[in-house]
Amino acid sequence: METKLLKGSMVAKEITARLIEETKELKEEGIVPRLAIVRIGENPDDIAYEKGIEKRFEKIGLEIEKFILDVDSSQEDVLNTIEKINLDKNIHGALLFRPFPKKFDDNLIRNPLTIEKDLDGISDISLASIFTNTNLAYPPCTAKACIELLNYYKYDLEGMNVVVVGRSLVIGKPVSMLALNKNASVTICHSRTKNIEDICKKADIVIAAVGKANFIGKDHVSENQVFVDVGINVNEEGNLVGDINFDEVEPLAKSISPVPGGVGSITTSILASHLVEACKKSKED
Ligand code: NAP
Repeated sequence: METKLLKGSMVAKEITARLIEETKELKEEGIVPRLAIVRIGENPDDIAYEKGIEKRFEKIGLEIEKFILDVDSSQEDVLNTIEKINLDKNIHGALLFRPFPKKFDDNLIRNPLTIEKDLDGISDISLASIFTNTNLAYPPCTAKACIELLNYYKYDLEGMNVVVVGRSLVIGKPVSMLALNKNASVTICHSRTKNIEDICKKADIVIAAVGKANFIGKDHVSENQVFVDVGINVNEEGNLVGDINFDEVEPLAKSISPVPGGVGSITTSILASHLVEACKKSKED
């Protein structure tokens, strides 16, 4: 399918429609999928994401319980909250807003959530499951959103050369593994990679998760390529822009996801789909 603009809203709409039906069926059985949100402090980015989740979840009929901790909370307070969530049978999954404030040990806090409730794939065990391709855990929602976007627009990853720019645990590494699990040949670039332009030019699909506005430009492009832009950056004029220079790349690309309106639009529906799946699995226990 030839599609120039890979719009996330279309993907989110399709997932949302399916989840409305599935949630209705669960409710008929007397079960309401319930998400725990753990937020430390009042970070505006977290609050904006939280509002996006609330809007999507209301539409689907999913419930949310918020655990909002003061920035002065101790690490023990956060660990106790996670323990409470793990033990609560009426909570089917959780989302912990990250990055945590600097005084907290990320490795300590992201690991105690059980694999069944770790809907954003933050723990080592969840991430390991993506590497082993055992389907036991939920991958990070944004990484999954990239794959769902390509899937919706009928880009089969099998045998494709996929270049991922970025190697974070949140996006770069998990999206690389998800693409590998779909039989793509994956090259991961990072800040020490030489000749990124040439590497990107050889790709069928470029996934940019760099965190640098307009990092990928016309020098990274060859013919007939698909570009997925994960970046969310604010440029000097105060506008939201991606990691891909849209004005330079769009005229040369086969397809490209816009920012805003691309990958970011899908993330909350992926989170909702993980919650509904976790809720269904909890019935089997
Ligand atoms: P991150 O943790 O800062 O990782 C950035 C990655 O880019 C690192 O692996 C880094 O390499 C690499 N990089 C930095 N400068 C580079 C350079 N000059 N050349 C090549 N590679 C370079 O960021 P992240 O959390 O993965 O997020 C990436 C982007 O996605 C950000 O813009 C973020 O806002 C956005 N994001 C979007 C969503 C969404 O829903 N759409 C969700 C989360 C994040 P090293 O490892 O060598 O340092």
